[in-house]
Formats: sequence, structure tokens, C-alpha cells
Amino acid sequence: MGLGSLFKRGKKKEKTEEIEDCHIDINVEDCDGCEKCTIACPNNVLIIIDDVSSVRDSQVCKSCRVCVAICPNDCITVN
Ligand code: SF4
Ligand code: SF4
Repeated sequence: MGLGSLFKRGKKKEKTEEIEDCHIDINVEDCDGCEKCTIACPNNVLIIIDDVSSVRDSQVCKSCRVCVAICPNDCITVN
């Protein structure tokens, strides 16, 4: 029995990564660019651009809503 037959027996597990469909809204009118959300976000989703918070990469958002909780101006909504 060759090694090849051993490997064939093992079932290939399909790797599936769930990407949550996360939608982040930032009210830039009320944002003062304090950076609290960008520092608090554990996934580095947010970034300050032109003195307001912006979404850098919504695909890595885990909808934990830490940013929502920390924003002093209630600018962020995560659906
Ligand atoms: S919900 Fe969580 S992961 Fe998404 S942007 Fe806010 S702090 Fe980051
Ligand atoms: S915490 Fe709120 S006010 Fe501060 S940068 Fe983020 S969105 Fe703007």
C-alpha cells in the first residue's frame, strides 16, 4: 500500500469563512475626528481621513459595536 492511497482516504475539508455583511454608517457631520473609534476597533476597520472617521475595510468588521459604544458623539451605526 503506497502513501498515495492513505492520503486519498482523508476527506478534504472545505474551508469556509463567514463574512458578515456588516454595514457601518458614520455621521460625518457630528464626527470631530477624536480617533476614539479608530483606536478602539479591534479589527482596524476605521481610519481618520480629512479629520473624520471613515471605513477602511468593512469586510473585516465583526459587528462588535465597540466603536458605537465609545463614540462620544453617537456618530456610528453598525447594522
Ligand atoms: S463594529 Fe467592531 S469591528 Fe466593526 S468597526 Fe466597530 S469596533 Fe470595529
Ligand atoms: S469616536 Fe466618534 S467622534 Fe470620534 S472619530 Fe470616531 S466617529 Fe468621530
